[in-house]
Amino acid sequence: MERESNNALSDVLAQKGISRRNFLKFCTAMTGALALPSVYTPRIVKALEEAPKRTPVVWLEFQDCAGCSESFLRASRPTAGEVILDVLSVDYHETIMAASGHLAEEAKKMTTDAGGHLVIVEGAIPLAEDGLHCCIGGRTAIDILEEATAKAAAVIAVGSCATFGGVPKASPNPTNAVGVMELVKNVPVLNLSGCPVNVVNLTATVVHFLTFGALPAMDDLGRPLFAHGALIHDNCERRGHFDKGEFVTAWGDEGHRNGWCLYQMGCKGPIAYHNCPTVRWNDGLNWPVGGGHGCIACSEPDFWDRSVYEPVAIQEVAPPASFPPAQAEPEAMSSGSAATVGAVAGLVVGAVGAAAVVGRGGSEDQAEDQAES
Ligand code: SF4
Repeated sequence: MERESNNALSDVLAQKGISRRNFLKFCTAMTGALALPSVYTPRIVKALEEAPKRTPVVWLEFQDCAGCSESFLRASRPTAGEVILDVLSVDYHETIMAASGHLAEEAKKMTTDAGGHLVIVEGAIPLAEDGLHCCIGGRTAIDILEEATAKAAAVIAVGSCATFGGVPKASPNPTNAVGVMELVKNVPVLNLSGCPVNVVNLTATVVHFLTFGALPAMDDLGRPLFAHGALIHDNCERRGHFDKGEFVTAWGDEGHRNGWCLYQMGCKGPIAYHNCPTVRWNDGLNWPVGGGHGCIACSEPDFWDRSVYEPVAIQEVAPPASFPPAQAEPEAMSSGSAATVGAVAGLVVGAVGAAAVVGRGGSEDQAEDQAES
């Protein structure tokens, strides 16, 4: 089977009708998404335009719901971002490939034997019973993953299942499911957690890889800092209400109708590191908290075992005790006392959030360092 992988990206963009103006706008947006200074935009443009050939990709699915594939494919109109993903030579993807059976296996083997490819993994890997809970073509997920990654340039684990085990690993974890990084030690592994993965972050990671020849800087859980370097709570449009002590206390109450903070309804934004509030979903249209539901921290390990509707402790701070009761009318407080409570609480929470981010390495510096290297 011949692998079609020799079209330069610039050719493919032209074939797809993507104007140079839109391509440049896309590169500028990617520079911002990667938290890189704007001086990097020309370098991204040059690297993508001059990419000599399509990078081969093997996309593996194990214990998953195909939600990350849906996220990858969700776009309905061609944009430069979609073309960037489209021009990867996806040599194996069980959900979308035309080939099947031995032909499909042959395509995968040709790519993995040649080496230098990207492996994208969706879904957890079961270890119980020697891996028999997930077999494809008569082989276990453990075997398939080992073979596919042996000569790979890098591995990108997408979604909560491939990164941290996700739903398959939920207690009592009957199949002993694990994420990719538990098994792959010989190749760099990047975790794009979230349920599902946000295609913007996958695109930005691919652009970084094509531009700099390396994966972006990561936090201590292997997640790219450009996407997971800050708490959701620190970028949430409802944060002002949190700082003022204005909380939703029942679905559909006045606070809910007015867009108040969802902390007391169990929002996990204060413990979740993700760029959901800024990148959003469906072409930036909205995100869960914007739609009125609290964050469930799907980007964090073991999120499925955490009670969705129980408020979380914010580091060592307990906001409900620091604020006036959520039921209190803001007018019942003097403007001075409200401002003082809000400012003090904001400073405490802000300082804790900032310390947490600094403790995780600082996104821009590391991203720049890695980019430079
Ligand atoms: S607790 Fe949730 S809704 Fe409230 S400000 Fe934080 S992230 Fe936003």
